[in-house]
Formats: sequence, C-alpha cells, structure tokens
Amino acid sequence: MPCKDPEKARNKKYYQEHKEYFKKYYQKHKEHILATIKKHRIEHPEEYKVRYKKYLQNHPDCNKKYRRNHIEKLKYQSRKYRQDHPEKFREKRRKQRARKLNAPGSHTAEDIKFLRNISGGFCSGYNRDPHQVGKEKLTVDHIKPLSKGGSDYTKNIQMLCQSCNSTKGIKYN
Ligand SMILES: [Zn+2]
Repeated sequence: MPCKDPEKARNKKYYQEHKEYFKKYYQKHKEHILATIKKHRIEHPEEYKVRYKKYLQNHPDCNKKYRRNHIEKLKYQSRKYRQDHPEKFREKRRKQRARKLNAPGSHTAEDIKFLRNISGGFCSGYNRDPHQVGKEKLTVDHIKPLSKGGSDYTKNIQMLCQSCNSTKGIKYN
C-alpha cells in the first residue's frame, strides 16, 4: 500500500535504500533503542493509549484474537478496576439498570460522593428513624424505585444502609 503522508513516504524510501545500514545499527544498539522506546512509552502513556485504540479500530480481528487469548488477564484487570474504583463500578451498573428500565435522568459517581459526604454517615432510615452507620456503609437507594417509574436523577436518590435498603427491596419486589 502506498504511503500517503509525503514525509513518511520519504522516510520509508530512505529506510529501504539504507536497509542494511539500519539493520546493523539496530543490532549494535538494540539495548539502547529498546530502552529509549520503553522510556518514551512510560513518559507518554496517553499518546500510546490513543495509538493503541486507533490500532484496534483498524485491526478488529487482532482485538478479538487478543481478547480470546487473554481472557484471564482481562478478567483480572476488570476485577482489579472494580476493587480500586468501587463507586465508578456501581455507577456503571446503576446506569445500565436505569437504561434498561428507560428511567429518565442520570447521576454521576461524583454526585453519590457528594451525597455520601453530606449524609455525615447517617442512613435516612426506611420505616425507622435516621441512624448513624458510617459513610462507607451507605448504599444508593432510589426513593421512588426505577421499576415503579422513578427517575435516576440525584433528587430521587437517598443513602440507605444495607439493612434498610434490603428491607425496602423485599417490600417492593
Ligand atoms: Zn438504615
């Protein structure tokens, strides 16, 4: 395939004409060249991410093959992401559920973080008074459930403890 970028084409031509020289140069300085590339990679991760994404778009077969051959690694990565970013993961899951139920509105992980912070660790209480459980123990609850036509807006969200949330769930389902 002919190279469209004139500068690239020139470089390619130059490379073809001096192939032997480049090969020898590479063999002689292999360690140094590879180290330089690695360094560049570490210093410019974003650039490589974009490049990699582009590559996968242009080579969908490679992508599929890679996924097939690295199932365990990918599973591990997604599990790790889930552990490292629990709030993000839950946000994604809630979004999927809201979309499935055609619920209007949306919220972000930041919104939930805000609600969690202003709650002061208090569960709003379901069929009981608000009580202190600690910020980390609070879960997201849709005041009017999505399944009953409630929205996914922040104003329809309250923070409940696991116990209150599941009590509510049992009543509604
Ligand atoms: Zn509670």
